[in-house]
Amino acid sequence: MNAVNEQAQLSVQQLGHFIGGAPAAPTSGRFKDVFNPATGKVTGSVALASVEEVDAAVKAAKAAFATWSETAPIKRARILFKFKELLNRHHDELALLITREHGKVFTDAQGEVVRGIEVVEFACGIPNLLKTDFTDQIGGGIDNWNLRQPLGVVAGITPFNFPVMVPMWMFPVALACGNTFVLKPSERDPSASLRIAELLKEAGLPDGVFNVVNGDKVAVDALIEHPDVAALSFVGSTPIAEYIYTEASRRGKRVQALGGAKNHLVVMPDADLDQAVDALIGAAYGSAGERCMAISVAVAVGHVADELIERLVPRVKSLVIKNGENLDAEMGPLVTAEHKAKVAGYIASGEAEGAKLIVDGRAHPVASEDGFFIGGTLFDQVGTQMKIYQEEIFGPVLAVVRVPDFASAVELINAHEFGNGVSLFTSDGGVARAFGRQIQVGMVGINVPIPVPMAWHSFGGWKRSLFGDHHAYGEEGVRFYTRYKSIMQRWPDSIAKGAEFTMPVAK
Ligand code: NAD
Repeated sequence: MNAVNEQAQLSVQQLGHFIGGAPAAPTSGRFKDVFNPATGKVTGSVALASVEEVDAAVKAAKAAFATWSETAPIKRARILFKFKELLNRHHDELALLITREHGKVFTDAQGEVVRGIEVVEFACGIPNLLKTDFTDQIGGGIDNWNLRQPLGVVAGITPFNFPVMVPMWMFPVALACGNTFVLKPSERDPSASLRIAELLKEAGLPDGVFNVVNGDKVAVDALIEHPDVAALSFVGSTPIAEYIYTEASRRGKRVQALGGAKNHLVVMPDADLDQAVDALIGAAYGSAGERCMAISVAVAVGHVADELIERLVPRVKSLVIKNGENLDAEMGPLVTAEHKAKVAGYIASGEAEGAKLIVDGRAHPVASEDGFFIGGTLFDQVGTQMKIYQEEIFGPVLAVVRVPDFASAVELINAHEFGNGVSLFTSDGGVARAFGRQIQVGMVGINVPIPVPMAWHSFGGWKRSLFGDHHAYGEEGVRFYTRYKSIMQRWPDSIAKGAEFTMPVAK
């Protein structure tokens, strides 16, 4: 037994920081365990940065900014091209890092890496994206045009559920625009970020342009308070998003803070039920429900409810739930034991508040394994006053709410405090069009369950799912990571007429 324990100890990896182009040994003396959620075993010990360590990362980024911001966009793009090639080469290695620390199934992790690479591909087009407007001859011999200039040192604070993709919503665009970056990834699955830093260096990114500080609230607060951090991008839960938005924006920083979600999928009576059921199973239970675009509420309109439930039950019961390294796994574990306990608590609360518990994930045989597994859960007759309807559960729990008609479905969704994603399954184009126009949600799918915009569109919710003015990546990302400047110029042969004291107008 001792020998086994020693072996386990040896395989625990210390995860530090990456500052100024090199791994930085941690100095704070504070660490946190990192788990493989499928086995429940500790696999790593991540450093939690001190204020001084965050300051060292910001200093490195600030020093690198002078040269990087003056580097031609085409040269910045060439480095991103090389980075993209390295990502292709190391695609499965990154996916495995995700599966081993997050728990999602390997094929899903592969998909996550692809969605991250797409943002790198978008950012490779930066010379074109930074092209701006020019007006020739606004007045006698005067032209007007605008520039988009980088902000300086920008920080990204990311959640556990997409350890590769969400950082890549941020830094490829930020770097392409000429900023330098400090990433503070989730302390629950930090390995992928450190590997990404190595790959960026291998691609030729100058030292200090991209830095990683691991940590918790101490590191986040140090980034918020640091006078040399110009902007923060955050993705995570709503209370932390609101905190970061409030604290950083009152210090004059630019902030985009993407928060939590409660995404509805409306099933109209004329929907193709086979498609709707497939969509619900994938979107509610994929990644164990730990996606901000997961569907957690099925809104059954009219008579469709009974048949929908009937078809969902066998599918939920037969989900293949196991260690995501198995290629036939459909669902892996939750990220931590605490999170599993939280999700189980929500199931208990739904039962106590009178929802009809049809499939109970706590009773699934996987729930008694060593990893942080729980089975898929299905509730019917969920009421809007219930905690399981109002709050984000972030687990494999689907709530069915019954409504009489389309108008009630729209009203229900628009009344919810979150507005991240939503989906409608119907065969009626008129209903679909009305839904798209009336719904108060940032990302809408019509017969598409998880409408995550492609890299050249932009990602973001409405209401308490996003704090700030810009959505992530795409052209909104370019706007977020650059400042607009208007330049008006006249050359010497036309300024010889002397000073003018009246407001200049086009004559
Ligand atoms: P989280 O809010 O707990 O953590 C996110 C980040 O904030 C982490 O880096 C964490 O270290 C940091 N943090 C945690 N507590 C903090 C505190 N008190 N002060 C300062 N920083 C703190 O979120 P999570 O559990 O890692 O991720 C799941 C959440 O993220 C869900 O709510 C999910 O909906 C949301 N999410 C949203 C989107 C989106 O695009 N809207 C995308 C992915 C995830």
